Amino acid sequence: VLALEGVWKSYGDHPVLRGIDLEVAPHEVVCLIGASGSGKSTLLRTVNLLETVDDGVITLDGQEITDPRVDVDDVRKRVGIVFQAFNLFPHMSVLDNITLAPRQVHRVARKQAEEQARELLARFGLAQKADAYPDQLSGGQQQRVAIIRALATQPRLMLLDEVTSALDPELVTEVLGIIRELKGAGMTMVMTTHEMSFCRDIADTICFLDDGVLLEKGSPEQIFGDPQHPRTRDFLRSVI
Ligand code: ATP
Ligand code: MG
Repeated sequence: VLALEGVWKSYGDHPVLRGIDLEVAPHEVVCLIGASGSGKSTLLRTVNLLETVDDGVITLDGQEITDPRVDVDDVRKRVGIVFQAFNLFPHMSVLDNITLAPRQVHRVARKQAEEQARELLARFGLAQKADAYPDQLSGGQQQRVAIIRALATQPRLMLLDEVTSALDPELVTEVLGIIRELKGAGMTMVMTTHEMSFCRDIADTICFLDDGVLLEKGSPEQIFGDPQHPRTRDFLRSVI
């Protein structure tokens, strides 16, 4: 689905991504781990074209999306992204938040967009909340709506950046539940998380980023059970 080859990105003279190579297969769930500032969010943002890269190539379904002539809206339709802060539009109902992109960007008719949104809400246990406004929802519910909103354009790939870090512990579970369900449905995902136990549980592949370098990559068993690199070991020791 996705391939990064030799991706470099700097802010000013500070390199944040230093030659990232990464391939993501269909249905694969990849967790990016690493210290704060190691470049995890930046990596996700380059895949959604929220950041340009200085060097290297990113390919989505065989299409080179780092090509400057690429249709950015078309790429974003195929790549859903959800951030730590829910970023729902506060003045719009849940239903309008979810149907906005399908209707405006992808020109889906209102009726069809709303039917699809209600189906998604029902699937994730939020059928009753279609007409509520974001401030009437709990943090966990808001984040579930944010995920549903990203799903509404039927993306090929979902990028999830610390989607549980802003939540109280008792609300984390319901959001992790959605992610688990998406994996069950075969969604390809690249996510960052500080929830190591969840990462271990759900990831097919874990990538350890250290100061912009993808230092180590492997199955959860390999990374947690037998990390090869001393820096991976230090990091895991500090977070587990
Ligand atoms: P965290 O775990 O804290 O979310 P991260 O691994 O996601 O960290 P990034 O957000 O990718 O890290 O940031 C990587 C580096 O890039 C940091 O040093 C950060 O200060 C820097 N950085 C990120 N965004 C910008 C920006 N827009 N302008 C300048 N520097 C930036
Ligand atoms: Mg981050």
